[in-house]
Amino acid sequence: MPVQPIRLFGDPVLRTPAAPVETFDKELRKLVQDLTDTMRDAPGSGLAAPQIGVSLRVFTWWVDDELGHLCNPVLDLSDEIQDGEEGCLSIPDLAFDTKRAMRVVAKGFNEHGEPVVVEGSELLARAIQHETDHLDGILFVDRLDAETRKAAMKAIREAEWFGEQPPEVRVSPHTVSARWL
Ligand code: ZN
Repeated sequence: MPVQPIRLFGDPVLRTPAAPVETFDKELRKLVQDLTDTMRDAPGSGLAAPQIGVSLRVFTWWVDDELGHLCNPVLDLSDEIQDGEEGCLSIPDLAFDTKRAMRVVAKGFNEHGEPVVVEGSELLARAIQHETDHLDGILFVDRLDAETRKAAMKAIREAEWFGEQPPEVRVSPHTVSARWL
């Protein structure tokens, strides 16, 4: 299955709330496969459909060697908070400390339309929250405190990829790291 170009900050699809999955068909399973392949190629710990230009409520994750996907997620978050570095494949090379719930229970559907419940903590919980935000048109920089967000926006504006089309052939600039989502 083909690896898809990853949409970058500034692409309107990343600010568009995604539509619920209504048809769990072959096309959806191809989308899940494309997301999985693109995420593993990047490499990243998670990828949401809008990041490859598809405005549907689907994301994948790759955390602790476990691959997963979820459609139409609804999250239940713990009161306990984690704080740590977070990055985004759509905002290359930049990472900032981001507060997230420590644990999450995510209800949704698998690619066959069967109801599933995913429970995660730490990085998996962070990935699920980050990817669900993507489905609502929210980026992790929106979650930063005002001062850090200002620094993040400055770094984005100064990044060499900002305002550029993605290169025809992606040579991954990323070192293998768990934090790219
Ligand atoms: Zn992201």
